[in-house]
Amino acid sequence: MKGAQRTGREVVALPLPLLVNLVNAWGSAPRKACGKSAQAYSTLSAWRATSPLAWRQFPRLSATQLVEVADLVYPVFAAGSGRECAQSLSRLAEQAGLTPTMASEGWRVREAWRCAHAGQELLAAAALALLEHLRASPDASRLGTCHGQACADVFVDQSPAGLRQFCSLTCQTRQRTRAYRAGKRETEARSTLGA
Ligand SMILES: [Zn+2]
Repeated sequence: MKGAQRTGREVVALPLPLLVNLVNAWGSAPRKACGKSAQAYSTLSAWRATSPLAWRQFPRLSATQLVEVADLVYPVFAAGSGRECAQSLSRLAEQAGLTPTMASEGWRVREAWRCAHAGQELLAAAALALLEHLRASPDASRLGTCHGQACADVFVDQSPAGLRQFCSLTCQTRQRTRAYRAGKRETEARSTLGA
């Protein structure tokens, strides 16, 4: 029993889309980029309602904890190289006390992960989500942050070409419109000078 307490309870990975939403809604960098730093966070109950099953394993979450986890996870998406991504994720796993172990159900033996640091269960579930994602898709350049102006939201690039630059279609359209207008202004200025 003591051993079980020392190793902590089994961690279930957070669904990756949920982790992306968490980082974008609670992370300091995404909120700052879109000028929402001073705005109130969504209420915890509203947040829980978005995915009640996934949140059931964290009955006592606080806003401070969500911000902390979002800010710790952000560098994994913002990493400039595979090495940086690996280092950030290693730090996360270490801080969460994410520990591999084996579990069994009858004769069926499987890999299991535990959180050795009490209070870090959400961080452990976030780290495990990224670990499982990278195990299936090791190309870390597909974890990215938005190139849109006034946006630093994170995303997972699942496009066939792997060239995604924007968090959403809204940011992509906004950026294209901006580039188009800038080009038009430049052409107009040039023709005025020429006239
Ligand atoms: Zn964006």
